[in-house]
Amino acid sequence: MSEQFSDKGFATRAVRAGHQRTNEGEHAEPIFPTSSFVFDSAEQAAARFGGDEPGNIYSRFTNPTVRTFETRLAQLEGGESCVATASGMSAILSTFMSLCVSGDHIVSSRSIFGTTRVLFDKYLSRFGLHTDYVPLTDIAAWEQAIKPNTKMLFLETPSNPLNEIADLAALSALAKKHGCLLVVDNCFCTPALQLPLQLGADIVIHSATKYLDGQGRCIGGAVIGDAQTVGEEVYGFLRTAGPTMSAFNAWTFLKGLETLEIRMQTHSASAMHLAQWLSAHPKVNQVFYAGLPTHPQHLLAKRQQSAFGGIIAFEVKGGREAAWKTINATQWLSITANLGDTKTTITHPATTTHGRVSPEDRLASGITDGLIRLSVGLESVADIQAELQRGLDLA
Ligand SMILES: *Cc1c(COP(=O)(O)O)cnc(C)c1O
Repeated sequence: MSEQFSDKGFATRAVRAGHQRTNEGEHAEPIFPTSSFVFDSAEQAAARFGGDEPGNIYSRFTNPTVRTFETRLAQLEGGESCVATASGMSAILSTFMSLCVSGDHIVSSRSIFGTTRVLFDKYLSRFGLHTDYVPLTDIAAWEQAIKPNTKMLFLETPSNPLNEIADLAALSALAKKHGCLLVVDNCFCTPALQLPLQLGADIVIHSATKYLDGQGRCIGGAVIGDAQTVGEEVYGFLRTAGPTMSAFNAWTFLKGLETLEIRMQTHSASAMHLAQWLSAHPKVNQVFYAGLPTHPQHLLAKRQQSAFGGIIAFEVKGGREAAWKTINATQWLSITANLGDTKTTITHPATTTHGRVSPEDRLASGITDGLIRLSVGLESVADIQAELQRGLDLA
């Protein structure tokens, strides 16, 4: 039933893949809020528990609503298997706990979500997993950091907040050459704009909390890859350790996927408009957006992504004071660190998302005191521009 859509266009898969209609003939996907499932007989219960007969047992293992979301997202990313998780962080945790053993080594981009870095450095390190960090765009540095025990290469592209772009084809060739797995957190682009598996990555990770929901409602995550690595190994950890997605959240994310492509196109078009306007603004030093021809990886982004996404960073003249003035002068942009919402959000990375990083490390990774990050929402772009204009006039 769901396989019939795997050869269809992205938007068709996003709307229709994965739903197996019940005897009620429902048109929209139903929610199954049930912890367990019943069996016709003791024999059937034994067969299900023994793995001789497929079917539901318990919602920590499988749930029909969650499975619909997993099937749909797998078909959007072009992967064989998807497992849904309770959050983006538990997707990352489940991937590393299931596929690594004590003594393994990880090479990670240094430009990753702050909490992911805490997970690697404070927690996974306790179990004998050591992580080294490299600049996202420096392929030679990636190769140099790989050791005989390196199991995973991990990155996000575009990076947060500066929109650096990793060359996924080059890094997947490197991973194959050295026998490690390339793991890509595809949060910023989503499969609507970028397909890491097609470029040779082994595993894609999502924080569904961001663009997959797209309306700032639920926390969730996902891991996508081949049937053995993800469908068996990551799934095996998940059903045992338990950070599974709830049926209600899966249903909310399904509704998000249906509009993912048109939302990402509008986020990208509005971000492009604002990036061009900001680059010409006299109070702005620099704009970091891969859609601008002046961006160092513009051509790579153009090759690898179908649009440039909804996140912009820009540096105002006058450091922290000017940045705070700009942010405080907005009347309805949301001052919050979340992103990927219909509502535009505005953040000062140096004192929020990157506030715990030492000033030296922060500057080394380009997070200056004048930097502002914008997650461009779906409001009228002229209104967003007017909000920023008011602040920049004061800065
Ligand atoms: C938010 C985020 C995460 C963590 O996701 P949660 O759903 O908040 O657990 C991981 N990676 C990136 C890039 C993110 O933006």
